[in-house]
Parts: sequence; C-alpha cells; structure tokens
Amino acid sequence: MEMTLPARFMSWLNINRACNLRCEWCYAGMMDFGRSENMTLDVVQRSIDFMKGLPVKEVILIGGEPTIHPQFLQIVRMLKEAGFRPLVVTNGIEFANREFLEAAIEAGVNNVTTSLKAANEEDYERFTGKKMFSTVMTAIKNLNETGIPHKVCVTVCEDVIEGFDGIIDALIESKPPLFSFDMGRPVIVNGQVQGDGIALPKTMAEFVIKIYPKLLASGITFNIKMLIPFCLFPRSFIETLIKNDHLSSACQIFEGTGIIIDPKGRLLPCNHFCDNPLGQIGIDFSTADEYVQFRLRSDIADFYKTMGSCPAQECVDCKYWQYCGGGCRIHWLRYGADEMIGSFSEERR
Ligand code: SF4
Ligand code: SF4
Repeated sequence: MEMTLPARFMSWLNINRACNLRCEWCYAGMMDFGRSENMTLDVVQRSIDFMKGLPVKEVILIGGEPTIHPQFLQIVRMLKEAGFRPLVVTNGIEFANREFLEAAIEAGVNNVTTSLKAANEEDYERFTGKKMFSTVMTAIKNLNETGIPHKVCVTVCEDVIEGFDGIIDALIESKPPLFSFDMGRPVIVNGQVQGDGIALPKTMAEFVIKIYPKLLASGITFNIKMLIPFCLFPRSFIETLIKNDHLSSACQIFEGTGIIIDPKGRLLPCNHFCDNPLGQIGIDFSTADEYVQFRLRSDIADFYKTMGSCPAQECVDCKYWQYCGGGCRIHWLRYGADEMIGSFSEERR
C-alpha cells in the first residue's frame, strides 16, 4: 500500500530541559533536568528552514520550562517572522511578571497553556519542590487580563488525584477561558520505561468517572485528553463525553502528525520517547522535501505503521478505534494488554 503523509502537521520545539520546578513525574526530571541543554538559535533556524515547506501552522514551545530559555523571546520572534503561530506550554511562573508576559505577546506568542500542579502552596511545594501556587495564580490573572487565548491544563498523576477538588476550586476562582486535563504517561529513558508518580490507567479511569460530575457542576469549560483506552470506562460514559464534546483523544504518533525536535535538533517520536530519536536535522534532512523523503523511508514508515496499528485483538473491530487508538503506546509497553484492555463494563473495577 502506498504510504501517504498527513495533510497537516503539529510541531513541538523542545527548546530546553531545564526547569524552575522539580515535579517527580516529569520527563525532564527523568533526564535530570539537563541544565545546559538549551536549543541554539542555529537549531531553531534549521527547524524553521525545513518546516517552512511543510503544512505546519503552529509551533508549540515546550521544555523543561521554555520561558527560562535565555533566548526565549528571540525564538518566538524567529517563529513569528517565519509565518508560524508560536504557542507556549509553561508552568506559568515567569508569566506572573506582567512585563515579561507582555514582551512575549509582543514578540508573537499567540496562545499559552499553563500547567497547574496543585491547588495550594503546601501541595505545590510537596509536588514541585517550590511554593509557587500564588505565583501561578497571578500568571493566570495576567493572562486573563491581556486577553491572549489561553487555557489551564492539569496532568493527572498520583499527586493530582489526591487534591483534585481543590484544583476545581482554584479554577473556579481564577476563571481561565478553558481547562483541559490530560493524563500522566511514562517515559522511555535509557531503554527503560519509567513512570514514577504516574497512576495506573485503571486508576485514572476511576478518577475521571468520579470527578466528571464535579467538573460539569463547576461551570468551567473543559476538555479531557483521553490517553488511556476507552474500554476502561463504561460505554455509556464514553458516549456521554463524546456527546458533550468533552473528549479529545488519540496520540499524535498514532496519527503520525507530530514533528518534535529536541534541544540537539533530533527528531523524536514524542517527548516521552526522549532518547529514541528517529533522525537528526542536518544529517537525515534539512529541507521540507528531504523530510518528506525521510518520512517515506521504509524504516521510518514501518515505525509509524507499527505505532498506528492495533495493540490488541479487541481493537481490530472496535467502533472507537479511530478515536481511541488504544491510548498512549508507552502505557502499553509498561503494562501490557491485561492492564490496558477493559470491557466497557458498567461495573466499577
Ligand atoms: S480501540 Fe482498543 S483500547 Fe480502544 S476502546 Fe477499543 S478495544 Fe479498547
Ligand atoms: S506515545 Fe503518544 S500519547 Fe504517549 S506520550 Fe507519546 S505522543 Fe503522548
């Protein structure tokens, strides 16, 4: 069968690994927060050079913590001048400084996702090593006031499950225009799957079922990025999420739409496959045409084909396959089908 590429790509530039927090479950932490690993402007320019000829509109800056990259504003300007929409995923600390936020918007930042880690100072310090809750709340207030499109995101991990009621209260208080929560995923480092602090998929499913009525009652506009199998939930629950437009799903590797560049200019399958690069800018490709040829190369095409194929027999005829995709592939590597495949049962497991 002839291999085709997606009509549109999403790009993530992982511009550093350094962070001003120390969250246990973070992939940057699992790589020791490589402090010196800042993407150089040369790598940014080379990334721009090949992406310009591809159907890429948005470039998402991630880290580590991208806003503490010494040339953050310059990188944003370079992307904007090249015609991309620069988006930022941040812990929000630096945007508590209103001048810095305004400078970032002036440089071209077009949309901000603030990752909220806890609902009070004490938990914030316990989970991240720093008392930054009120600082992040100030950042959300600043973002609201500037009018820039933004959302608050919470990654569901063991810590967050404990204190989620407080997080809903904090969101009601801070009123971001949109709230999304996604699911903690393990990371592959040195060939090993690591998942400290990441809840079991079944535990996450139970948690989502439990908090959904509270989210509905809160009046917050929200979205759940489902990265675990739909069959871990009762079928009626999944149908309700779909009907209410509260569900976004499927990993970008499954869809083959992601271009993820690490600080060294390596192309990663995703940030959680952080030491398994597929290729390198300047060696495997430098232009859009070369990238297309690279993606069509048999080993790379086989990788995406494998990642996009059904991880279990049950998925083959499942009506949700295109939407569910089995969830995060790294969960499958960690737990295997016994933990991953559910029965859509109405019974709580
Ligand atoms: S596609 Fe597979 S993992 Fe997803 S709901 Fe269906 S059987 Fe479960
Ligand atoms: S495998 Fe997919 S869902 Fe899992 S971390 Fe990577 S991109 Fe995300």
